[in-house]
Amino acid sequence: MIIALKPGVDAGKEKQLIDWFKEMGLGVHTSVGSERTVLGLIGDTSKVDMELVESLEIVDSVKRVSETFKMCNRKFHPEDTVISVGDVKIGGGNFAIMAGPCSVESEKQIVEVARDVKAAGAAILRGGAFKPRTSPYDFQGLKAEGLEYLKIAKQETGLPIVTELMSITDIPLFEDVDIIQIGARNMQNFNLLQEVGKLNKPILLKRGLANTLKELLMSAEYIMANGNENVILCERGIRTYSDYTRNTLDLSAVPMLHELSHLPVIVDPSHATGIARLVPPMALAATAAGADGLIIEVHNDPMHALCDGAQSLRPEEFATLAGKINAVRTVI
Ligand code: PEP
Ligand code: MN
Repeated sequence: MIIALKPGVDAGKEKQLIDWFKEMGLGVHTSVGSERTVLGLIGDTSKVDMELVESLEIVDSVKRVSETFKMCNRKFHPEDTVISVGDVKIGGGNFAIMAGPCSVESEKQIVEVARDVKAAGAAILRGGAFKPRTSPYDFQGLKAEGLEYLKIAKQETGLPIVTELMSITDIPLFEDVDIIQIGARNMQNFNLLQEVGKLNKPILLKRGLANTLKELLMSAEYIMANGNENVILCERGIRTYSDYTRNTLDLSAVPMLHELSHLPVIVDPSHATGIARLVPPMALAATAAGADGLIIEVHNDPMHALCDGAQSLRPEEFATLAGKINAVRTVI
């Protein structure tokens, strides 16, 4: 249930109302907008007398929210959420490009790529240290050592870092990581979602390979219900009948998620297509569709990459793309 208060209501009366809901065993999510405050009730609201609430002097309107996702629901929080990572902002008209290799391979590699993507206009450095690989025989990432190299690249360039967390037991290693990525394969690892929900740092939540938008939002809800409201949603392609691309990029997810949720939505054209030459057109299309950012794989030597070389742009290709992304942003 959402309760829109009248503009400029008395703070004491607002608190009284919130306390009353809490006494009924409900959670209250307060969203202070530029014009009015919206209270979102979480829990079993069947016993709340809507007419009584509506008749209160400070209340403008009362609506039941039929969706099962509440905290990430735009009805609960009408204004866009803006996520801050250092000086970088994502959402609410702020656009950020995250770029870097699929996996961190050495200190030299990640520092070099970090310098290149920064020069081209990336705001955040990506790089996997813990890699979810389909085959147990493939390179699994440099793990803790990879995180150390990421931190060095951050020191060298000033770029905040985003990297994937696969297991609850590794959380202590991620203290200096700026954005924790929850990968597609872990989108419904509910224990992991609950634990990152207790952290105080942004979470990049990627859509699962075969998950619906509602399921993605329910996973965001897991994180938010545990206290962490800094969630960035990521469309990274889903499994359909695509035979020539790695996945199918569901670009309609961008405007649909924006309609349903206040959370920022970014797009990963690299994993969506699996083919480097398809990354620029899809990145531009995602930008035009209103994405709040992009996450793009860039490698200084894609032919010898330990992971996802075929979908990685060379730094100079990324620089050209970044210029075109800016041009599309200017137009839209
Ligand atoms: C990645 O970003 O490196 C990755 C593994 O992505 P996804 O979880 O979307 O497959
Ligand atoms: Mn990858």
